[in-house]
Order: sequence, then structure tokens, then C-alpha cells
Amino acid sequence: MEMKNQLLRTITSKCSLSRYSHIKIGQKTNYLFTPRKISELRAVILEARDEHRKLVPIGGASNILFGNTRNRFMVADRKLPKKIELNGNEVWVTANYPLQKFMEKMQNSTLGGLEFLTGIPAQIGGAVKMNAGAFGKEISQYIDLVEMINENGQIVTYSKDDLKFDYRRTSIRDYITRVKFILDPKPIDEIDGEIKKIMAIRKSRHPYDYPSLGSTFRNPPNTTAAHLIEECGLKGTASGDAQISEKHANFIINKGKAKFKNVMELIDLIQEEVYKKFNQLLKLEIRIVN
Ligand SMILES: Cc1cc2nc3c(=O)[nH]c(=O)nc-3n(C[C@H](O)[C@H](O)[C@H](O)COP(=O)(O)OP(=O)(O)OC[C@H]3O[C@@H](n4cnc5c(N)ncnc54)[C@H](O)[C@@H]3O)c2cc1C
Repeated sequence: MEMKNQLLRTITSKCSLSRYSHIKIGQKTNYLFTPRKISELRAVILEARDEHRKLVPIGGASNILFGNTRNRFMVADRKLPKKIELNGNEVWVTANYPLQKFMEKMQNSTLGGLEFLTGIPAQIGGAVKMNAGAFGKEISQYIDLVEMINENGQIVTYSKDDLKFDYRRTSIRDYITRVKFILDPKPIDEIDGEIKKIMAIRKSRHPYDYPSLGSTFRNPPNTTAAHLIEECGLKGTASGDAQISEKHANFIINKGKAKFKNVMELIDLIQEEVYKKFNQLLKLEIRIVN
């Protein structure tokens, strides 16, 4: 495809998506854009609209499994400026800010609340789009405003009440550029204690020694996906270097050179076996871009 915009050529990344992917799976791809300024991001969004192509935003890629993406339009915001603007306990942060780093900065400014998100390898934009949560809390509880660029390249700001936030899903369809949070004033030591406690719980339950995408499936009502998968005796089952974690059955880990098809094989197997045994179709929490 001829790109009409010369500018887009200069911000097309040639590197393999495995370098972006948290589970280290991905290929070389033709249309991965890495804008350095908002004006370049806007150009990508307008090109996608004009070409009638769906644009896939990539944040921390900790919840996306990349398949054959050779001709997909994708944009990663890691080269855009990263910025935090603090005003009392209200804070604007760019979508490309790594979540854990943001929490660390906020802790140093004696602002807390987001400690439950400790250990989640997201960027702010991805965490907001997915309404990331843990231990019964969700990031949306701390959101005030979300700034986005819509498909016509206009900057639009929504208040939390204009948007819908559910379990790991939101009504957000546009490209998130900045988010305003209202955080809790909290002493550094108190935040530190909570972070340490949560990290210890996570490390005891989740496989942090191999790359993964976190929970593969959404929890069905009244039970957990991990429990159903475990009851089917699938823990430890492997396809190539992909494996259903022995530690947490809802995590699929990459023990080396796992491929997209290995992970898909395990996903299919889990869905089949759980359906046979429990008459329950597990739905994916991870996003597949193929
Ligand atoms: C070890 C581990 C533990 C995890 N634990 C948890 C957990 O406890 N709770 C939880 O909720 N999740 C968890 N996850 C999953 C994942 O980290 C979260 O879903 C996270 O919010 C994804 O953020 P990301 O920046 O990596 O988004 P990505 O994976 O890059 O993208 C996720 C979705 O958001 C979209 N997106 C990304 N950036 C933008 C943007 N700027 N504008 C619009 N859309 C965008 C993408 O297109 C995609 O649809 C875990 C993952 C791992 C690997």
C-alpha cells in the first residue's frame, strides 16, 4: 500500500513486535507507527480513518497477543513525550507513562490509592482502556477525566461519568492521550507497606519468572477461570515453549521461544476441556491482534 503521507514513512518502525510484546511473541510488521509528537500521532489516526483501517494502539503490550500482524495498522506511543502535572492531589499524566513508575512518583509526592495495581506491567493508557483492577478495586475509581484523540484528529476530554467502566472493559474507542486522576493523600511509609504486601501476595500466586500476559481468560460469575482450568488437570500442559503455568492456571507463560500458534493451541485446549467438563465457555481477557 502506498502511504500518501510522507511523514508516516519516517515514523514507521521496522523492529519486530516481539520487542514490544510483554510475552515476547510477535513478528516484523509493515505499519507499526511510533510517533514522537502529538501532531504525528494525529497524522497516523487520520491516515487510518482515510484508509478505512482499524488502528490498534499498543501500550505496555502486557495484554495483547500478536499473531500475523504484517498488514495491521498499529501505533505505539513510547516515543511521545512523557509528562506528569501535579496540582495538590489531582494529577494529569500522559497515556504512555509506565504505570509502576507513575505510582512510584506519586508515592514520593505522598499520594496513594493505586497500590492495588502494584506489579501490573502496564502503561497508563492501556490500564485505563482495560479498567485494570485487582483485589476488588479498579483503576476507574481514581479517574476524573480522560483525554483522547478521536478519529477525526480532534482532542476530546470526557469526564468519568461520560464513560462506561466494567470488569476489564470500557466504552473507550478513541486513542487515550492523557488521564487525570484524583489520588489519596497518604504517608510514604504507608504506601510502601501496602506495595510490599501486595507484591509479596502476587509473587506467591503468579508466575513472575517467565513472560506472560497475566490472566488469559475472564473470570465467569461465581468462580475463577484458574479454578476451572486446574480442575481439568491442565496445569503444566505445554505446546512448544508455551505452558499453562503450574503456579496459576489462568496464566500462559513463554518459557523461551513460544510462538503465537503455541499459545493459541493452549487457549483452544482450555476452552474445549472446560466446556466439556463444566459446560462453561471461558471468554478471553487478553486481546488478540491477528
Ligand atoms: C504479570 C502480569 C500480571 C497482570 N495482572 C493484572 C491484574 O492484576 N489486573 C489486570 O487488570 N490486569 C493484569 N494484567 C494484564 C495487563 O497488564 C492489563 O490489562 C494492563 O492494563 C494492560 O496495559 P498495557 O498498557 O500493557 O496495554 P496493552 O496490552 O498494550 O493494550 C491493552 C488494550 O488497550 C488498548 N490500548 C493501549 N493503549 C491505549 C491508548 N493509549 N488508547 C486507547 N487504547 C489503548 C490496546 O489496543 C488493547 O486493546 C497482568 C499482566 C501481566 C503480564
